[in-house]
Amino acid sequence: MTMTSARAGDDEDVLDSLTIGRRVRQLRLDAGMTVEGLGEAIGRAASQISVIENGKRELRLAELQKLARALGTSLDAMLAPEPLSRRHELEIALERAQRGPLFRSLGLEALPIRKTLGDQAIETILRLHGELEKLHEQRAATPEEARRANTELRAEQRKRDNHYPELEEAAAKLLSAIGHRGGPLSQRATSELAAHLGFTLHYVGDLPVSTRSITDHRNGRIYLPVRQTGTDPRSALLQALAAHVLGQPEPSDYGDLLRQRVETNYLAGALMVPEESAVAYLSELKAARELSVEDLRDHFAVSYETAAHRFTNLATKHLDIPVHFTKVHSSGVISKAYENDDVQFPTDPLGSVEGQRVCRWWSARQVFEVEDRLSAYHQYTDKPVGTYWCTSAIVSASNGDFSVSVGTRFNDAKWFRGRDTSRRLTSTCPDPACCREPAEDTAAYWQGRAWPSARLNSSLLAAMPDGSTTGVDKVDVYEFLDRHSATTL
Ligand SMILES: [Zn+2]
Repeated sequence: MTMTSARAGDDEDVLDSLTIGRRVRQLRLDAGMTVEGLGEAIGRAASQISVIENGKRELRLAELQKLARALGTSLDAMLAPEPLSRRHELEIALERAQRGPLFRSLGLEALPIRKTLGDQAIETILRLHGELEKLHEQRAATPEEARRANTELRAEQRKRDNHYPELEEAAAKLLSAIGHRGGPLSQRATSELAAHLGFTLHYVGDLPVSTRSITDHRNGRIYLPVRQTGTDPRSALLQALAAHVLGQPEPSDYGDLLRQRVETNYLAGALMVPEESAVAYLSELKAARELSVEDLRDHFAVSYETAAHRFTNLATKHLDIPVHFTKVHSSGVISKAYENDDVQFPTDPLGSVEGQRVCRWWSARQVFEVEDRLSAYHQYTDKPVGTYWCTSAIVSASNGDFSVSVGTRFNDAKWFRGRDTSRRLTSTCPDPACCREPAEDTAAYWQGRAWPSARLNSSLLAAMPDGSTTGVDKVDVYEFLDRHSATTL
């Protein structure tokens, strides 16, 4: 960040003349002198004193000495790093902000700093300025368009309770065309579906790394990798078929791309877990108060993530249960999220959730602390917006371990297996004191004495968590250091 360091140098000079100017003013007022009076005493016009006091001119040493004498103080005292009054600090900060590039880029006329401008007004302006600066930094770091499109898409999913009747119907038609009678969709049925749609399947060893499959419309072929890295060998093919059925054109922008991805995932999920038989099965589980994502997974022989995803498609529409869903990397950073139960996800100032770090007391992160990774994990969490019950599981992918969680409000926990868990934690996030700030003494101990090297965040949608530049979680780093320095000494 060469720009920042170049600017910092300028800022320090500005700060200096600003600080000295304010100090001159303070001393003058303390001495009960007017601007004219001080001007006379050092042989300058009153307007020149104002220029000095406003920090608009650098002072030579000789001038400083003259001023000090006139104000009945010493040069040392004038330059002493005594704390300025709060008011003066605010004025200096505002002056700095107004001279900065951001303020100028807005084309706003500088606000004259008068006594009538209250401290609170200055504080508010500074706060807004700071937030605006942060936003600009984040925008520079991530494709804003992608994140905005994603935020819109999530709002739309929420509005329809994450249920897409036209896609459910498309799935039902396709399945009935190959005579599927509900239950798990076998690999063979998947191939039949491809044949029904006029495609032959070709498993190749040299599929471009950046693709999951390639559909050749000219020859009616679908190319798939011989070795599939994903958990479910059906999903790449079903997604290719879904894209074909949906007749998706080349996406024209991020919004398009994301919408298409949501729709193909949805249709692929609806083929593996058909609505009719899934709703019948889930209704039975609900009646028995035994709802569980694992059972849905096992019943349809799909991955945990597909089961959790399908559960959110059907839960509100058919079971009358508002839910939330998260997929969270082991670092705590959200990669996917959906909610219609008013659980509050952390967001950046543009409302984007992906790339933000969830509270460390949430189930989505607590599940990583448990040694038994095979059993289902359940937890109640008291949040500022209410108490929620969540169930989480860890899934492994080529880019790391993720927790997949489904949660619901306390009142709806009664329908789920695992409601009797005794795990109950409190989260006060977004209050930074909840889990985002290191304890004061820990911070004081390590501040400036540790250098965590950041792993760069490569997600397309991700802004850095908490608007930080590196995405490093200091709480984690300090805990790590504490732990290791204690055991190796
Ligand atoms: Zn927290």
